[in-house]
Amino acid sequence: MSDDCIFCKIIAGDIPCSRVYEDDHVLAFNDINPKARVHVLVVPKVHFDRLHESDEVEVGMLGRILVGVGKVASANDITGSGYRVQFNQGRGAGQEVFHLHAHVMSA
Ligand code: AMP
Ligand code: ZN
Repeated sequence: MSDDCIFCKIIAGDIPCSRVYEDDHVLAFNDINPKARVHVLVVPKVHFDRLHESDEVEVGMLGRILVGVGKVASANDITGSGYRVQFNQGRGAGQEVFHLHAHVMSA
């Protein structure tokens, strides 16, 4: 947990969210400022920042995010119509929250 991380606070239950899916490894909730009809964030429960800092140790966590993405797509019934999965990395790419997360956006 990182004290100044808003997603860690959501995971801890200190800030509310609109939960879509949860398992032991990830929490998925609706983006507060949606850019698509369905716009869900899939967030690992452990604080981790940049993809380019990942290594073998993170393989499980990274896979769990993608499993969560699939669960979110199924729960929102967008597997047929299509969806995008986006990881913004760095301020230049528009990243605002520095806790790794996948955006799941309906097509
Ligand atoms: P990024 O720009 O990739 O870091 O994405 C951060 C996303 O988090 C943005 O799309 C925000 O709208 C979203 N966001 C920020 N705070 C909250 C919150 N409290 N609940 C839900 N989504 C949030
Ligand atoms: Zn965090």
